[in-house]
Amino acid sequence: MRTNRIELPPYPSDEDHAPLLVDLALAEVVFARDVADGDLVLGIADLFGRVEYHNDQYTARPQPFDPTCQCGGCNTYDAAEGPFVNLGDDNQWQVCDSMPAEWLVVIVRAAHLA
Ligand SMILES: [Zn+2]
Repeated sequence: MRTNRIELPPYPSDEDHAPLLVDLALAEVVFARDVADGDLVLGIADLFGRVEYHNDQYTARPQPFDPTCQCGGCNTYDAAEGPFVNLGDDNQWQVCDSMPAEWLVVIVRAAHLA
C-alpha cells in the first residue's frame, strides 16, 4: 500500500549524503512490510511527515526478521513487540536494517530502476 500523505523534502546535497542515483520524483513512501526485493531504500519517514534520508541509498533484500540475529540491527528489538521486518544487510551499515513492520520507508520501486 502506498502512502501519499507525505511530501518528500529535497534530497540533501551535502558531504554527508551520497549523490542520489535516481530521480526523487520516482520515490514513494510505503510501509516497511511492503518493501520488496530490489527496491531502492532512500530513508525513513514518520507519521508526522518528517523524512530522514539515509546517508546512502541501498537495495532492499528483505528476509524474515530473526530475533536471534546478533548483528546489532535486529537485537535492538524485542520480538514480542513485533511484527518486525528485515530489509536486508546489503547496505552501508553492514547490519540488518530491521524495523517495525508499520514504519514508513522512502523507496524507489525496483521497476523504476534502470
Ligand atoms: Zn540482523
